[in-house]
Amino acid sequence: MSHVFPRHCHASLPTATAGDGCFLIDADGKRYFDGSGGAAVSCLGHSNARVADAVKAQIDTLAFAHTGFFTSDPAEDLADLLIANAPGTLDRAYFVSGGSEAVESAIKLARQYHIENGEPQRRHLIARRQSYHGNTLGALAAGGNEWRRQQFSPLLVDVTHIAPCFEYADRHADETPDAYGQRVAQELEDEILRLGPDTVMAFMAEPVVGATLGAVPPVEGYYARIREICDQYGVLLILDEVMCGMGRTGHLFACDAEGIAPDILTTAKGLGAGYQPIGAMLCTRKIYDAIASGTGFFQHGHTYNGHPVAAAAGLAVLRELLDNDLVAQVRQRGTYLETELRRRFGQHPHIGDIRGRGLFWGLEFVSDRDTKQPFDPVLGLAGRLKKAAIGHGLICYPMPGTRDGRHGDHVMLAPPFISTEAELNGALDSLERAITDVIPT
Ligand code: PLP
Repeated sequence: MSHVFPRHCHASLPTATAGDGCFLIDADGKRYFDGSGGAAVSCLGHSNARVADAVKAQIDTLAFAHTGFFTSDPAEDLADLLIANAPGTLDRAYFVSGGSEAVESAIKLARQYHIENGEPQRRHLIARRQSYHGNTLGALAAGGNEWRRQQFSPLLVDVTHIAPCFEYADRHADETPDAYGQRVAQELEDEILRLGPDTVMAFMAEPVVGATLGAVPPVEGYYARIREICDQYGVLLILDEVMCGMGRTGHLFACDAEGIAPDILTTAKGLGAGYQPIGAMLCTRKIYDAIASGTGFFQHGHTYNGHPVAAAAGLAVLRELLDNDLVAQVRQRGTYLETELRRRFGQHPHIGDIRGRGLFWGLEFVSDRDTKQPFDPVLGLAGRLKKAAIGHGLICYPMPGTRDGRHGDHVMLAPPFISTEAELNGALDSLERAITDVIPT
């Protein structure tokens, strides 16, 4: 009998025993194409020699040195390389162990920045419905997925949520995409004015919404307007690129596609690519300087901040991405994947929308394409699809609650950047079979 406390008490999971390129292999020797990189993590597949060697070499040299006492070469080098490629005036990297920690750090830094800046009344965080920012209490409070929040709501700090930019579900038939983007962006200004402009500390959003919406990019012009509103009211813009960052969308930083830069950015998953747990919070020079010239320290910290082995993995991953121009490869393979998705599923009577960027794609299931009506949640479509796909040797990322935390189902694909066209085709064959098993037409 297992003593591991699993995610789900009644699931019977295979044991993963090996990784081979884009595939995971279980104890029975069955191979699974990792079509979602777990949860958009394994961007380099599962057997990248350069990253594995960097991890081993770092352990042999220096396994750990607490950042209260030392800095380390891998952390310094990773920060230099990230910042050299980061948008806008992002200038400092704060290394943590994952996405939720990066988000917690971002929220606390935003608050401390305003205090150091002589505006201690700025305390409100605004985020968006149907976003996911992590499972620790601060990150969960920022997230806008009702199902995840519900039972913990008495423990969550007060965060207000505006609409996401979700064109498929929310744009009116007589509205242009541009007018739609401006309408939903306007909700931010309205909320700032409602709360009192000098009480708002930050606005947080995922540039391309991952787990909870299923790879939803914004319409053009939305983020330009968001940036403008934040600037007008002195509200910090925090972009959560934990899932969509590090090349996943065909841009090293997802916000590069929007032509804007945040004040604080969080990244994780693809940064360690699964070889080590690592996340990072990047902030602008202005924010860093406010802390440095004020109290002189960020009142935060975790034991494993800037872990040398995790940083060595992150550095090797980033070098792989940059040296091999893998972000361009993501764009090229992404175009192929999009074409194939549209060819295979574009006319499916129960797939209402195919959206995404780069190698980050979502299919949304509906009972009726004309009305965009979701399936009844009691059908448990997403869960059944996950099981069927695994049966066909495909790991993908189905999720219920697309529309409001309860209604709606989607499946997300986030395959490794090294996937070949033949491998992507094999994955889509499996997905097609799984969809047919679950939603016979
Ligand atoms: N932010 C986003 C956008 C995410 O997708 C996730 C995880 O899925 C997180 C934060 C939390 O990251 P982690 O699970 O590493 O704590």
